[in-house]
Amino acid sequence: MTHNSTAKNYQAANNCLANRIIVVTGAGDGIGRTAALTFANYGAEIILVGRTVAKLERVYDEIIAAGGLQPAIYPLDLEGATEDHYAEMAAKLFDEFGRIDGLLHNAGLLGQRTPIANYKLSTWQQVMQVNVTAAFAMTKALLPLLEKSEDASVVFTSSGVGRSGRAYWGAYSVSKFATEGMAQVLAEEVEGVGNIKVNCINPGATRTAMRAGAYPAEDPGSLPEPEEIMPTYLYLMGADSKGVSGQSLDAQ
Ligand code: NDP
Repeated sequence: MTHNSTAKNYQAANNCLANRIIVVTGAGDGIGRTAALTFANYGAEIILVGRTVAKLERVYDEIIAAGGLQPAIYPLDLEGATEDHYAEMAAKLFDEFGRIDGLLHNAGLLGQRTPIANYKLSTWQQVMQVNVTAAFAMTKALLPLLEKSEDASVVFTSSGVGRSGRAYWGAYSVSKFATEGMAQVLAEEVEGVGNIKVNCINPGATRTAMRAGAYPAEDPGSLPEPEEIMPTYLYLMGADSKGVSGQSLDAQ
């Protein structure tokens, strides 16, 4: 079986993420919210990162109500965050947890759906900042904490338009190509020198606010919910994918 089908058909064992401390960005909504709830459900301690605290608090409450370990909330606006913010984040997480075992870069911005000829520079910069530069800066800052894990997983979030460019997808498409590239570069750099694996997930069309923004005429009911794509996320976050690195998997 390919990594793709192994991941898609993965049946996670109860508590397969026990003793893992996992950072999820964009954890307040959509796929990130479901990933945070799912990882907690399988025993992980979650650090919820996002820009809307009220949403993170709701996810926090949901995790507690489901019997999960108490998560941490780390408010951060990835558009405005500087290197100092990431250094502070790394220092705080080190003091509180001593290491991290998982980092899911999930937060993302869609930007405009318009031809390059009309694309606003400010929107371009915003999308590249949140989707690419923030993931780079956070990864860089958190690498020392990942290196302290016995089995660490970094997962970046890609897209179909990150593998093949499509008209009107502008900075979003370009940011996802960059994300694929960043994952490959980092995977090669950490290969054989520690316990970190680095991969990408392309979620595929999934019922979220972002998808509805990109395809306003589509019936959301025709799309899978985030819960349905979680096997790939669980597979890459847990021990059963040990040795799998530098891959870009389709969750559907
Ligand atoms: P949503 O728009 O539903 O959620 C995106 C999350 O990212 C939200 O929690 C949002 O926070 C957060 N976020 C956005 N900007 C920032 C910022 N500046 N700082 C911190 N957090 C921020 O999107 P999806 O769940 O659909 O997407 C998740 C990932 O999956 C993205 O990377 C997306 O590109 C990718 N993807 C999604 C597909 C789909 O069909 N849904 C298909 C292919 C890829 P807030 O709620 O506060 O706005």
